[in-house]
Amino acid sequence: MSAQSVNSLFIDGQWRSASNNSIREIRSPHDGSLVAIVSEATPQDAADAIASARVSFDSAVFSSWSWEERSALVARIADLLERDAEKIALLESGDTGKRLVEARYDVADVISVFRYYAGLGLTEHDRVVHVDDERIKSQIVSEPVGVCALIGPWNYPLLQASWKVAPALVAGCSFILKPSELTPSSAIALIKLIDEAGTPKGVANLILGAGANVGAPLTSDKRVDLVSFTGGLATGKAIMATAAETVKKVALELGGKNPNIIFADADLDAAIDNAVTAVFLHSGQVCSAGTRLLVERSIHDLVVEKIVVRARAIRMGGPSDQSAETGPLISQGHMEKVSKYVERALAEGAQLLTGGKRSTLPPLTKGWYFEPTVLDHCVTTMSCVQDESFGPVLTVEVFDSEAEAIALGNDTIYGLAGAVWTNDTDKAKRVAKALHHGTIWINDFGPYKAQAEWGGFKASGIGRELGPNGLQEYLEIKHVWTNTSPARSGWFADAQQGDSK
Ligand code: NDP
Repeated sequence: MSAQSVNSLFIDGQWRSASNNSIREIRSPHDGSLVAIVSEATPQDAADAIASARVSFDSAVFSSWSWEERSALVARIADLLERDAEKIALLESGDTGKRLVEARYDVADVISVFRYYAGLGLTEHDRVVHVDDERIKSQIVSEPVGVCALIGPWNYPLLQASWKVAPALVAGCSFILKPSELTPSSAIALIKLIDEAGTPKGVANLILGAGANVGAPLTSDKRVDLVSFTGGLATGKAIMATAAETVKKVALELGGKNPNIIFADADLDAAIDNAVTAVFLHSGQVCSAGTRLLVERSIHDLVVEKIVVRARAIRMGGPSDQSAETGPLISQGHMEKVSKYVERALAEGAQLLTGGKRSTLPPLTKGWYFEPTVLDHCVTTMSCVQDESFGPVLTVEVFDSEAEAIALGNDTIYGLAGAVWTNDTDKAKRVAKALHHGTIWINDFGPYKAQAEWGGFKASGIGRELGPNGLQEYLEIKHVWTNTSPARSGWFADAQQGDSK
Protein backbone atom coordinates (compact mmCIF):
# COMPACT_ATOMS: atom_id res chain seq x y z
CA MET A 1 0.00 0.00 0.00
CA SER A 2 1.42 3.39 -0.88
CA ALA A 3 1.22 6.60 1.11
CA GLN A 4 0.36 9.51 -1.18
CA SER A 5 2.19 12.50 0.21
CA VAL A 6 2.71 14.86 -2.71
CA ASN A 7 2.46 18.02 -0.63
CA SER A 8 5.43 16.86 1.36
CA LEU A 9 7.76 19.85 1.47
CA PHE A 10 7.35 21.97 4.60
CA ILE A 11 8.43 25.54 4.05
CA ASP A 12 7.49 28.60 6.10
CA GLY A 13 4.86 26.67 8.03
CA GLN A 14 3.07 25.36 4.90
CA TRP A 15 2.94 21.91 3.31
CA ARG A 16 3.47 22.27 -0.39
CA SER A 17 4.41 20.44 -3.56
CA ALA A 18 7.62 21.06 -5.47
CA SER A 19 7.75 24.29 -7.45
CA ASN A 20 7.76 22.26 -10.68
CA ASN A 21 5.35 19.62 -9.27
CA SER A 22 8.00 16.89 -9.45
CA ILE A 23 7.41 13.76 -7.48
CA ARG A 24 9.44 10.70 -6.52
CA GLU A 25 8.29 7.14 -5.96
CA ILE A 26 9.71 5.42 -2.90
CA ARG A 27 9.99 1.68 -3.43
CA SER A 28 10.50 -1.02 -0.84
CA PRO A 29 14.02 -2.50 -0.81
CA HIS A 30 12.30 -5.74 0.23
CA ASP A 31 10.25 -6.35 -2.92
CA GLY A 32 10.22 -3.22 -5.04
CA SER A 33 6.62 -2.40 -4.17
CA LEU A 34 5.55 1.23 -4.07
CA VAL A 35 5.55 2.52 -0.49
CA ALA A 36 5.18 6.26 -0.98
CA ILE A 37 5.01 9.07 -3.49
CA VAL A 38 6.58 12.29 -2.28
CA SER A 39 7.46 15.71 -3.64
CA GLU A 40 10.89 16.09 -5.23
CA ALA A 41 12.15 19.55 -4.37
CA THR A 42 13.92 21.88 -6.77
CA PRO A 43 16.87 24.17 -5.94
CA GLN A 44 14.26 26.98 -5.82
CA ASP A 45 12.39 25.09 -3.08
CA ALA A 46 15.66 24.68 -1.19
CA ALA A 47 16.26 28.43 -1.49
CA ASP A 48 12.72 29.10 -0.21
CA ALA A 49 13.33 26.84 2.77
CA ILE A 50 16.57 28.65 3.57
CA ALA A 51 14.79 32.01 3.33
CA SER A 52 12.05 30.77 5.65
CA ALA A 53 14.55 29.55 8.23
CA ARG A 54 16.59 32.75 7.97
CA VAL A 55 13.58 35.03 8.44
CA SER A 56 12.32 33.05 11.40
CA PHE A 57 15.73 33.06 13.04
CA ASP A 58 16.42 36.73 12.43
CA SER A 59 13.01 37.69 13.79
CA ALA A 60 13.88 35.82 17.03
CA VAL A 61 10.37 34.31 16.95
CA PHE A 62 11.79 31.17 18.53
CA SER A 63 15.29 31.96 19.74
CA SER A 64 13.76 34.46 22.16
CA TRP A 65 11.87 31.67 23.90
CA SER A 66 13.40 30.75 27.25
CA TRP A 67 15.30 27.49 27.66
CA GLU A 68 12.34 26.25 29.70
CA GLU A 69 9.88 27.01 26.90
CA ARG A 70 12.02 25.33 24.26
CA SER A 71 12.56 22.31 26.50
CA ALA A 72 8.81 22.02 27.00
CA LEU A 73 8.34 22.07 23.21
CA VAL A 74 10.85 19.27 22.74
CA ALA A 75 9.17 17.27 25.52
CA ARG A 76 5.81 17.74 23.74
CA ILE A 77 7.37 16.40 20.52
CA ALA A 78 8.56 13.34 22.49
CA ASP A 79 4.98 12.82 23.75
CA LEU A 80 3.60 13.03 20.22
CA LEU A 81 6.25 10.62 18.95
CA GLU A 82 5.17 8.22 21.66
CA ARG A 83 1.53 8.59 20.60
CA ASP A 84 2.37 7.85 16.92
CA ALA A 85 5.24 5.42 17.52
CA GLU A 86 3.71 2.42 15.76
CA LYS A 87 2.62 4.46 12.74
CA ILE A 88 6.11 5.94 12.39
CA ALA A 89 7.81 2.56 12.82
CA LEU A 90 5.70 1.25 9.93
CA LEU A 91 6.77 4.17 7.73
CA GLU A 92 10.42 3.63 8.64
CA SER A 93 10.39 -0.08 7.92
CA GLY A 94 8.50 0.57 4.67
CA ASP A 95 11.18 2.91 3.30
CA THR A 96 14.25 1.11 4.62
CA GLY A 97 13.04 -2.50 4.31
CA LYS A 98 14.20 -3.12 7.88
CA ARG A 99 12.16 -5.40 10.10
CA LEU A 100 9.30 -3.71 11.91
CA VAL A 101 10.73 -4.83 15.25
CA GLU A 102 13.97 -2.95 14.50
CA ALA A 103 12.08 0.13 13.37
CA ARG A 104 10.19 0.05 16.69
CA TYR A 105 13.52 0.07 18.56
CA ASP A 106 14.62 3.01 16.43
CA VAL A 107 11.51 5.02 17.27
CA ALA A 108 11.93 4.24 20.98
CA ASP A 109 15.51 5.55 20.73
CA VAL A 110 14.29 8.66 18.95
CA ILE A 111 11.88 9.37 21.82
CA SER A 112 14.75 8.99 24.30
CA VAL A 113 16.80 11.50 22.35
CA PHE A 114 14.02 14.10 22.43
CA ARG A 115 13.44 13.44 26.15
CA TYR A 116 17.16 13.72 26.90
CA TYR A 117 17.50 17.10 25.16
CA ALA A 118 14.27 18.37 26.75
CA GLY A 119 15.94 17.64 30.10
CA LEU A 120 19.33 19.03 29.13
CA GLY A 121 17.70 22.30 28.10
CA LEU A 122 16.68 22.82 31.72
CA THR A 123 20.25 22.71 33.03
CA GLU A 124 22.47 25.77 33.45
CA HIS A 125 23.97 27.11 30.20
CA ASP A 126 25.53 30.40 31.22
CA ARG A 127 28.63 30.94 33.34
CA VAL A 128 29.84 33.78 35.47
CA VAL A 129 33.49 34.72 35.07
CA HIS A 130 34.88 36.08 38.33
CA VAL A 131 36.72 39.32 37.80
CA ASP A 132 38.68 40.96 40.57
CA ASP A 133 36.71 44.20 40.29
CA GLU A 134 33.30 44.66 41.92
CA ARG A 135 32.17 47.08 39.18
CA ILE A 136 32.41 44.34 36.54
CA LYS A 137 29.94 41.62 35.66
CA SER A 138 31.41 39.11 33.24
CA GLN A 139 29.23 36.39 31.85
CA ILE A 140 29.55 33.61 29.27
CA VAL A 141 26.22 33.05 27.53
CA SER A 142 25.16 30.38 25.03
CA GLU A 143 23.15 31.47 22.03
CA PRO A 144 21.69 29.48 19.13
CA VAL A 145 24.07 29.18 16.21
CA GLY A 146 21.41 30.26 13.68
CA VAL A 147 20.12 28.54 10.55
CA CYS A 148 21.13 24.88 10.34
CA ALA A 149 21.09 22.51 7.37
CA LEU A 150 20.52 19.01 8.72
CA ILE A 151 21.36 16.35 6.14
CA GLY A 152 20.78 12.71 6.98
CA PRO A 153 21.35 9.21 5.62
CA TRP A 154 19.09 6.27 4.79
CA ASN A 155 20.22 3.62 7.27
CA TYR A 156 18.62 5.10 10.42
CA PRO A 157 16.65 7.96 8.86
CA LEU A 158 14.61 9.13 11.84
CA LEU A 159 17.19 8.33 14.49
CA GLN A 160 19.93 10.27 12.70
CA ALA A 161 17.52 13.15 12.16
CA SER A 162 16.63 13.17 15.87
CA TRP A 163 20.30 13.53 16.87
CA LYS A 164 20.28 16.82 14.95
CA VAL A 165 16.71 18.14 15.25
CA ALA A 166 16.28 17.73 19.03
CA PRO A 167 19.41 19.68 20.07
CA ALA A 168 18.82 22.27 17.31
CA LEU A 169 15.34 22.98 18.72
CA VAL A 170 16.44 23.09 22.35
CA ALA A 171 19.20 25.52 21.35
CA GLY A 172 16.69 27.79 19.56
CA CYS A 173 17.95 27.31 16.00
CA SER A 174 15.89 27.34 12.81
CA PHE A 175 16.60 24.47 10.44
CA ILE A 176 16.10 22.81 7.09
CA LEU A 177 15.97 19.01 7.34
CA LYS A 178 17.02 17.07 4.22
CA PRO A 179 16.64 13.30 4.67
CA SER A 180 17.99 10.83 2.12
CA GLU A 181 15.98 10.78 -1.08
CA LEU A 182 15.46 7.05 -0.47
CA THR A 183 13.88 7.31 2.99
CA PRO A 184 11.80 10.48 3.42
CA SER A 185 8.60 9.17 5.08
CA SER A 186 9.61 9.27 8.74
CA ALA A 187 10.99 12.80 8.32
CA ILE A 188 7.60 13.94 6.97
CA ALA A 189 5.94 12.38 10.04
CA LEU A 190 8.42 14.03 12.40
CA ILE A 191 7.94 17.49 10.91
CA LYS A 192 4.16 17.10 11.21
CA LEU A 193 4.59 16.44 14.92
CA ILE A 194 7.02 19.32 15.35
CA ASP A 195 4.38 21.56 13.79
CA GLU A 196 1.59 20.08 15.92
CA ALA A 197 3.66 20.66 19.06
CA GLY A 198 3.50 24.41 18.45
CA THR A 199 6.83 25.26 16.82
CA PRO A 200 6.68 28.78 15.37
CA LYS A 201 6.29 29.14 11.60
CA GLY A 202 9.52 28.99 9.63
CA VAL A 203 11.61 27.34 12.35
CA ALA A 204 11.33 23.78 11.01
CA ASN A 205 11.56 23.25 7.25
CA LEU A 206 11.66 20.05 5.23
CA ILE A 207 13.17 19.58 1.81
CA LEU A 208 13.06 16.24 -0.03
CA GLY A 209 15.16 15.29 -3.01
CA ALA A 210 18.52 14.29 -4.36
CA GLY A 211 21.59 15.45 -2.49
CA ALA A 212 23.30 16.97 -5.50
CA ASN A 213 20.17 18.92 -6.41
CA VAL A 214 18.81 20.19 -3.12
CA GLY A 215 21.35 19.11 -0.49
CA ALA A 216 24.28 20.92 -2.08
CA PRO A 217 22.54 24.37 -2.16
CA LEU A 218 22.03 24.09 1.59
CA THR A 219 25.77 23.74 2.08
CA SER A 220 26.79 26.65 -0.15
CA ASP A 221 24.21 29.30 0.79
CA LYS A 222 25.62 32.10 2.92
CA ARG A 223 22.34 32.34 4.86
CA VAL A 224 23.04 28.93 6.42
CA ASP A 225 25.26 29.06 9.52
CA LEU A 226 25.85 25.37 10.20
CA VAL A 227 25.73 22.11 8.26
CA SER A 228 25.30 18.92 10.24
CA PHE A 229 25.77 15.92 7.97
CA THR A 230 25.74 12.16 8.42
CA GLY A 231 26.67 10.04 5.44
CA GLY A 232 29.54 8.90 3.28
CA LEU A 233 33.13 10.18 3.43
CA ALA A 234 33.18 11.47 -0.16
CA THR A 235 30.03 13.54 0.38
CA GLY A 236 31.35 14.77 3.72
CA LYS A 237 34.56 16.02 2.09
CA ALA A 238 32.57 17.77 -0.64
CA ILE A 239 30.33 19.43 1.95
CA MET A 240 33.28 20.57 4.02
CA ALA A 241 34.95 22.10 0.95
CA THR A 242 31.74 23.89 -0.06
CA ALA A 243 31.04 25.09 3.47
CA ALA A 244 34.54 26.56 3.65
CA GLU A 245 33.57 29.19 1.05
CA THR A 246 31.23 30.85 3.54
CA VAL A 247 33.11 29.65 6.66
CA LYS A 248 30.14 27.72 7.97
CA LYS A 249 30.36 25.52 10.98
CA VAL A 250 30.32 21.85 10.00
CA ALA A 251 29.51 18.77 12.04
CA LEU A 252 30.24 15.55 10.17
CA GLU A 253 29.61 11.89 10.93
CA LEU A 254 31.20 9.94 8.11
CA GLY A 255 31.14 6.31 9.14
CA GLY A 256 33.90 3.96 10.19
CA LYS A 257 35.92 0.86 9.62
CA ASN A 258 35.54 -0.46 13.09
CA PRO A 259 37.92 -3.03 14.61
CA ASN A 260 36.44 -5.74 16.79
CA ILE A 261 39.43 -7.23 18.64
CA ILE A 262 39.14 -10.67 20.25
CA PHE A 263 41.95 -11.89 22.50
CA ALA A 264 42.33 -15.59 23.29
CA ASP A 265 41.48 -15.03 26.96
CA ALA A 266 38.03 -13.54 26.18
CA ASP A 267 34.65 -15.07 26.93
CA LEU A 268 34.54 -16.57 23.46
CA ASP A 269 30.87 -17.49 23.48
CA ALA A 270 29.88 -13.86 24.13
CA ALA A 271 32.58 -12.48 21.82
CA ILE A 272 31.57 -14.67 18.87
CA ASP A 273 27.86 -14.02 19.31
CA ASN A 274 28.46 -10.26 19.48
CA ALA A 275 30.84 -10.38 16.52
CA VAL A 276 28.01 -11.83 14.42
CA THR A 277 25.55 -9.13 15.58
CA ALA A 278 28.16 -6.39 15.19
CA VAL A 279 28.59 -6.98 11.46
CA PHE A 280 25.31 -8.50 10.27
CA LEU A 281 22.77 -6.35 12.16
CA HIS A 282 20.75 -4.34 9.60
CA SER A 283 22.83 -6.12 6.93
CA GLY A 284 25.89 -4.13 7.93
CA GLN A 285 24.32 -0.79 7.04
CA VAL A 286 25.50 0.70 10.31
CA CYS A 287 28.24 3.32 10.61
CA SER A 288 29.64 1.57 13.68
CA ALA A 289 29.33 -1.98 12.30
CA GLY A 290 32.08 -4.32 13.47
CA THR A 291 33.21 -5.13 9.95
CA ARG A 292 36.87 -5.73 10.84
CA LEU A 293 37.44 -8.77 13.02
CA LEU A 294 40.92 -8.87 14.56
CA VAL A 295 41.45 -12.20 16.22
CA GLU A 296 44.41 -13.61 18.16
CA ARG A 297 46.11 -16.28 16.04
CA SER A 298 45.65 -19.16 18.52
CA ILE A 299 41.84 -18.86 18.41
CA HIS A 300 41.47 -17.86 14.77
CA ASP A 301 40.23 -21.21 13.40
CA LEU A 302 37.75 -21.78 16.21
CA VAL A 303 36.30 -18.25 16.09
CA VAL A 304 36.07 -18.07 12.32
CA GLU A 305 34.49 -21.50 12.00
CA LYS A 306 31.77 -20.60 14.49
CA ILE A 307 31.10 -17.23 12.88
CA VAL A 308 30.73 -18.86 9.45
CA VAL A 309 28.22 -21.39 10.82
CA ARG A 310 26.24 -18.55 12.40
CA ALA A 311 26.42 -16.39 9.25
CA ARG A 312 25.01 -19.20 7.10
CA ALA A 313 22.10 -19.64 9.50
CA ILE A 314 20.97 -15.99 9.45
CA ARG A 315 17.41 -15.67 8.19
CA MET A 316 16.75 -12.71 5.95
CA GLY A 317 13.31 -11.28 5.28
CA GLY A 318 11.09 -8.26 4.88
CA PRO A 319 9.52 -5.82 7.34
CA SER A 320 6.67 -8.07 8.45
CA ASP A 321 8.50 -11.41 8.39
CA GLN A 322 8.39 -12.45 12.06
CA SER A 323 11.09 -15.07 11.61
CA ALA A 324 13.56 -12.80 9.82
CA GLU A 325 16.69 -11.67 11.64
CA THR A 326 17.93 -9.10 9.14
CA GLY A 327 16.68 -7.33 6.04
CA PRO A 328 17.71 -6.13 2.60
CA LEU A 329 20.24 -3.56 1.45
CA ILE A 330 18.74 -0.16 0.70
CA SER A 331 18.89 -0.15 -3.10
CA GLN A 332 20.05 -1.96 -6.19
CA GLY A 333 22.88 0.55 -6.58
CA HIS A 334 24.08 -0.12 -3.06
CA MET A 335 23.84 -3.89 -3.55
CA GLU A 336 25.97 -3.63 -6.66
CA LYS A 337 28.49 -1.55 -4.73
CA VAL A 338 28.75 -4.21 -2.00
CA SER A 339 29.07 -6.91 -4.66
CA LYS A 340 31.96 -5.09 -6.35
CA TYR A 341 33.62 -4.59 -2.99
CA VAL A 342 33.64 -8.38 -2.46
CA GLU A 343 34.91 -9.01 -6.01
CA ARG A 344 37.78 -6.60 -5.40
CA ALA A 345 38.60 -8.28 -2.07
CA LEU A 346 38.85 -11.67 -3.76
CA ALA A 347 41.03 -10.24 -6.51
CA GLU A 348 43.32 -8.85 -3.78
CA GLY A 349 43.69 -12.28 -2.16
CA ALA A 350 40.98 -12.48 0.48
CA GLN A 351 39.42 -15.92 0.93
CA LEU A 352 35.63 -16.16 0.70
CA LEU A 353 34.29 -18.46 3.43
CA THR A 354 30.60 -17.82 2.95
CA GLY A 355 28.21 -15.45 1.16
CA GLY A 356 29.61 -12.95 -1.30
CA LYS A 357 26.56 -12.66 -3.51
CA ARG A 358 22.96 -11.60 -3.81
CA SER A 359 20.53 -14.05 -2.26
CA THR A 360 19.02 -16.50 -4.73
CA LEU A 361 16.32 -17.69 -2.31
CA PRO A 362 12.77 -16.85 -3.37
CA PRO A 363 11.07 -14.56 -2.41
CA LEU A 364 14.23 -12.62 -1.48
CA THR A 365 15.14 -12.36 -5.16
CA LYS A 366 12.56 -9.59 -5.50
CA GLY A 367 14.57 -7.39 -3.14
CA TRP A 368 18.14 -6.26 -2.52
CA TYR A 369 19.20 -9.12 -0.26
CA PHE A 370 22.91 -9.85 0.05
CA GLU A 371 24.15 -12.95 1.82
CA PRO A 372 26.10 -12.54 5.08
CA THR A 373 29.70 -12.72 3.93
CA VAL A 374 32.95 -13.69 5.65
CA LEU A 375 36.33 -12.93 4.08
CA ASP A 376 39.38 -14.54 5.70
CA HIS A 377 43.13 -13.99 5.29
CA CYS A 378 42.73 -10.25 5.01
CA VAL A 379 45.57 -7.78 5.53
CA THR A 380 45.52 -4.03 6.05
CA THR A 381 46.75 -3.24 2.55
CA MET A 382 43.57 -4.68 1.03
CA SER A 383 40.82 -2.26 0.11
CA CYS A 384 38.24 -4.48 1.86
CA VAL A 385 40.04 -3.78 5.14
CA GLN A 386 40.37 -0.05 4.50
CA ASP A 387 37.11 0.90 2.75
CA GLU A 388 33.61 0.91 4.21
CA SER A 389 31.41 -1.69 2.53
CA PHE A 390 28.26 -0.65 4.41
CA GLY A 391 27.07 -4.17 3.77
CA PRO A 392 27.09 -7.57 5.53
CA VAL A 393 30.75 -8.25 4.93
CA LEU A 394 33.21 -9.30 7.64
CA THR A 395 36.95 -9.20 7.04
CA VAL A 396 39.18 -11.30 9.30
CA GLU A 397 42.77 -10.46 10.25
CA VAL A 398 45.01 -12.19 12.80
CA PHE A 399 47.39 -10.72 15.38
CA ASP A 400 50.06 -12.20 17.65
CA SER A 401 50.45 -9.58 20.37
CA GLU A 402 48.65 -6.76 22.15
CA ALA A 403 50.84 -4.22 20.37
CA GLU A 404 50.00 -5.70 17.00
CA ALA A 405 46.26 -5.69 17.80
CA ILE A 406 46.46 -1.99 18.65
CA ALA A 407 48.51 -1.18 15.56
CA LEU A 408 46.04 -3.01 13.31
CA GLY A 409 43.05 -1.43 15.06
CA ASN A 410 44.48 2.01 14.37
CA ASP A 411 45.59 1.23 10.81
CA THR A 412 42.62 2.92 9.18
CA ILE A 413 41.77 6.44 8.10
CA TYR A 414 38.57 6.12 10.12
CA GLY A 415 38.09 6.37 13.88
CA LEU A 416 34.46 5.92 14.81
CA ALA A 417 34.23 2.89 17.08
CA GLY A 418 35.95 -0.30 18.16
CA ALA A 419 35.71 -3.11 20.66
CA VAL A 420 38.09 -5.20 22.69
CA TRP A 421 37.26 -8.63 24.14
CA THR A 422 39.44 -9.94 26.96
CA ASN A 423 39.11 -11.09 30.55
CA ASP A 424 42.27 -9.18 31.48
CA THR A 425 41.00 -5.84 32.85
CA ASP A 426 44.36 -4.07 32.61
CA LYS A 427 44.86 -5.20 29.03
CA ALA A 428 41.34 -4.04 28.15
CA LYS A 429 42.06 -0.59 29.59
CA ARG A 430 45.42 -0.33 27.81
CA VAL A 431 43.94 -1.28 24.45
CA ALA A 432 40.90 0.99 24.91
CA LYS A 433 43.21 3.91 25.66
CA ALA A 434 45.48 3.21 22.70
CA LEU A 435 42.74 2.90 20.08
CA HIS A 436 42.02 6.12 18.17
CA HIS A 437 38.26 5.78 17.87
CA GLY A 438 35.39 7.87 19.28
CA THR A 439 33.71 4.98 21.10
CA ILE A 440 35.35 1.89 22.59
CA TRP A 441 33.36 -1.00 23.93
CA ILE A 442 35.04 -3.41 26.34
CA ASN A 443 33.49 -6.88 26.25
CA ASP A 444 30.47 -5.55 24.39
CA PHE A 445 29.60 -4.18 20.97
CA GLY A 446 27.16 -1.53 19.84
CA PRO A 447 25.35 0.13 22.76
CA TYR A 448 25.02 3.88 22.77
CA LYS A 449 23.10 6.30 24.93
CA ALA A 450 21.48 9.67 24.28
CA GLN A 451 23.54 10.99 27.23
CA ALA A 452 26.88 9.83 25.78
CA GLU A 453 28.69 11.63 22.98
CA TRP A 454 28.91 9.89 19.61
CA GLY A 455 31.33 10.76 16.83
CA GLY A 456 34.62 10.01 15.24
CA PHE A 457 38.34 10.63 15.31
CA LYS A 458 40.21 11.17 12.04
CA ALA A 459 38.19 10.76 8.81
CA SER A 460 35.13 9.58 10.73
CA GLY A 461 34.14 13.18 11.18
CA ILE A 462 34.16 16.42 13.05
CA GLY A 463 32.28 17.18 16.24
CA ARG A 464 30.02 15.05 18.38
CA GLU A 465 26.34 14.20 18.44
CA LEU A 466 24.38 13.19 21.55
CA GLY A 467 25.34 14.12 25.09
CA PRO A 468 26.02 17.71 26.18
CA ASN A 469 28.49 18.20 23.31
CA GLY A 470 25.73 17.29 20.86
CA LEU A 471 23.88 20.39 22.07
CA GLN A 472 27.05 22.47 22.06
CA GLU A 473 27.28 22.06 18.25
CA TYR A 474 24.14 24.20 17.96
CA LEU A 475 25.33 26.97 20.30
CA GLU A 476 27.57 29.96 19.93
CA ILE A 477 29.42 31.18 22.99
CA LYS A 478 29.34 34.88 23.77
CA HIS A 479 31.22 36.79 26.45
CA VAL A 480 29.22 39.70 27.86
CA TRP A 481 31.25 42.18 29.94
CA THR A 482 29.27 44.81 31.87
CA ASN A 483 30.88 47.72 33.64
CA THR A 484 28.37 48.96 36.23
CA SER A 485 30.39 52.06 36.89
CA PRO A 486 31.68 53.41 33.56
CA ALA A 487 34.99 55.23 33.78
CA ARG A 488 37.56 56.64 31.43
CA SER A 489 40.16 54.14 30.26
CA GLY A 490 43.00 56.57 30.98
CA TRP A 491 45.35 54.79 28.56
CA PHE A 492 46.32 57.71 26.36
CA ALA A 493 47.15 61.11 27.67
CA ASP A 494 44.56 63.81 27.05
CA ALA A 495 45.40 66.03 24.12
CA GLN A 496 46.38 69.56 25.36
CA GLN A 497 44.46 72.41 23.81
CA GLY A 498 46.28 73.61 20.70
CA ASP A 499 48.26 70.33 20.28
CA SER A 500 46.37 69.21 17.21
CA LYS A 501 46.77 71.03 13.98
P1 NDP B 1 25.69 10.08 0.87
O1 NDP B 1 26.79 10.54 1.71
O2 NDP B 1 25.77 10.32 -0.59
O3 NDP B 1 24.28 10.69 1.35
C1 NDP B 1 23.96 11.08 2.66
C2 NDP B 1 23.04 12.31 2.58
O4 NDP B 1 23.71 13.38 1.94
C3 NDP B 1 21.78 12.06 1.76
O5 NDP B 1 20.72 12.81 2.30
C4 NDP B 1 22.18 12.60 0.42
O6 NDP B 1 21.09 12.91 -0.39
C5 NDP B 1 22.96 13.84 0.82
N1 NDP B 1 23.87 14.33 -0.19
C6 NDP B 1 24.46 13.67 -1.21
N2 NDP B 1 25.27 14.50 -1.93
C7 NDP B 1 25.19 15.71 -1.33
C8 NDP B 1 25.80 16.99 -1.57
N3 NDP B 1 26.66 17.17 -2.57
N4 NDP B 1 25.49 18.00 -0.75
C9 NDP B 1 24.64 17.84 0.27
N5 NDP B 1 24.03 16.67 0.55
C10 NDP B 1 24.30 15.62 -0.23
O7 NDP B 1 25.46 8.59 1.17
P2 NDP B 1 24.96 7.49 0.18
O8 NDP B 1 23.54 7.34 0.46
O9 NDP B 1 25.32 7.67 -1.23
O10 NDP B 1 25.86 6.33 0.71
C11 NDP B 1 27.21 6.31 0.31
C12 NDP B 1 28.04 5.68 1.35
O11 NDP B 1 28.01 6.47 2.52
C13 NDP B 1 27.54 4.34 1.82
O12 NDP B 1 27.90 3.32 0.97
C14 NDP B 1 28.20 4.26 3.16
O13 NDP B 1 29.52 3.83 3.04
C15 NDP B 1 28.18 5.67 3.65
N6 NDP B 1 27.11 5.98 4.59
C16 NDP B 1 27.46 6.29 5.84
C17 NDP B 1 26.50 6.56 6.77
C18 NDP B 1 26.88 6.89 8.17
O14 NDP B 1 26.08 6.67 9.07
N7 NDP B 1 28.01 7.48 8.41
C19 NDP B 1 25.08 6.50 6.46
C20 NDP B 1 24.81 6.23 5.07
C21 NDP B 1 25.81 5.98 4.19
P3 NDP B 1 20.41 11.80 -1.32
O15 NDP B 1 20.71 10.47 -0.77
O16 NDP B 1 18.99 12.15 -1.19
O17 NDP B 1 20.99 12.01 -2.67
